[in-house]
Amino acid sequence: MIWKCTVCGYMHQGDELLQKCPKCGAPAEKFTLLSEEDAKKVISSERTNDIHMELAALSMKIIALCEEGIELNLDPPCVALFKNAKEEARIIKQRSKAEIAGHIGKGKW
Ligand SMILES: [Zn+2]
Repeated sequence: MIWKCTVCGYMHQGDELLQKCPKCGAPAEKFTLLSEEDAKKVISSERTNDIHMELAALSMKIIALCEEGIELNLDPPCVALFKNAKEEARIIKQRSKAEIAGHIGKGKW
C-alpha cells in the first residue's frame, strides 16, 4: 500500500499509516491511499527513476572532473576534450532530469 501526503506529495510505502508526514509534518489524516493502478505506476517506475538520478549524479562528477582538467590546461587537445565531455555530461544530466519530470507528470514517481 502506498500513502500519499495531500499537502506535499510525500509517499510512504507500508501497511501502516505514519503519525505525521516526515517532510511537511502534516497529520496522518492528510494522507490518502493510492489506488492500485496508481501504486503500480509508482512501484514499476522506482528503479528507472533511481537510474536517472544516478546518471545525473555521475554527470555532475564528469562535469567536475572536466573543470579540473580545463583548469590544469596541459595542452589544447586535452582542454578541448574536457570542454566537449563537460557539455556532453550536461546533456546526459538534463535529458534524465527531463525524463524524470515527465514521469512525475504521469504519476510514475
Ligand atoms: Zn507532507
